[in-house]
Amino acid sequence: MRISTSYGRRTYALKCWRCGLELDTLSTNHTCSRCGEPLFAEVNLGEISRRGIESLVLRELKKVTLGEGRTPLIDHGRFLLKLEFLNPTGSFKDRGAALTISRALAASWRTVIEDSSGNAGIATAAYSARAGIKARIYAPADAPAGKLRLIKAFGAELRTVKTRDEAHKAALEDRSGVYVGHVVEPFFIEGIKDVALELVKSGSEFEVVVVPVASGTLFLGLYKGFKELVELGHIDEVPTLIPVEACGYSKLSRYLKSVSLACAEGERSVLADALRLTIVPRLQQIARAAGEVSPYVVTVGDEAIGESMRELYSMGLPVEPSCAAVYAAAKYVARDFSGRVVVPLTGSGLKYVPVPNELIDKYLF
Ligand SMILES: [Zn+2]
Repeated sequence: MRISTSYGRRTYALKCWRCGLELDTLSTNHTCSRCGEPLFAEVNLGEISRRGIESLVLRELKKVTLGEGRTPLIDHGRFLLKLEFLNPTGSFKDRGAALTISRALAASWRTVIEDSSGNAGIATAAYSARAGIKARIYAPADAPAGKLRLIKAFGAELRTVKTRDEAHKAALEDRSGVYVGHVVEPFFIEGIKDVALELVKSGSEFEVVVVPVASGTLFLGLYKGFKELVELGHIDEVPTLIPVEACGYSKLSRYLKSVSLACAEGERSVLADALRLTIVPRLQQIARAAGEVSPYVVTVGDEAIGESMRELYSMGLPVEPSCAAVYAAAKYVARDFSGRVVVPLTGSGLKYVPVPNELIDKYLF
């Protein structure tokens, strides 16, 4: 294994939050060999501070980029809308994929394996294409057709299975490459942290961030980013983070007070396809962070998601249904807080417009 100096112990370590075990930063292990918890990457904050906090990630780690990040933040009354769907492949997952695939390139991994409901698979496929690395993506067959087509268009090998959870299991069992699944990959979360920095640097005052939670990468990335900004003396405290889940897929209601918006009896959301995950390796970490910064979790049903989606499109915002769940939750949350509420609009709705195009198909498929 070729060790890149920018991943050396002076700047970064892979660490278990529970038992403190440290691993080499280019290790293919994503979980602690002692207690099984997914690992985090730990950056040397002194080095970040020395560079004037221009990013919470050391720039030299980003070997692969498609221009992700620095997304617009727009005003909408009580809400600040962070347009994460404007990232290169149409979701915030590009931020995580940039660092994940950068690490894969630094470690000379030839084939990477990911499991995804769509967006993370698209991001992994695109950044792998950029890096010249082979990607194999496991996804549920009922993911939106536009998302599955994009994974293939970027040249990744797509393997569909019945459910999102089965995709996760199949990817873990595939030993013919290095598993870099975003649900456990430490550097994926590192890539997300700058959303927190961008919000703080925007100069806009806000009190709460509503955060969609499936595997928890955005939630943990924001939490870690805000925590580091507190440690760096840039802000006084981590803002309130309100997790948002889809009806029938709530994991956090076991740990937090739960508010349901239009969840019908026994409903399992169909619309919020990006939130339909039940195997969550980082659940204990999310629950622990939420215990500090989240007064409650909001679960949202398809009826409320549909109504919010109509409202967002009427504002000119082409977002995917899971974003509408977050906006519906934000409207509820705004009643409990006096300050402004940040709403990350995480994924593009353009992937949902099924337009088989003979000319494009000829070249891409
Ligand atoms: Zn451990």
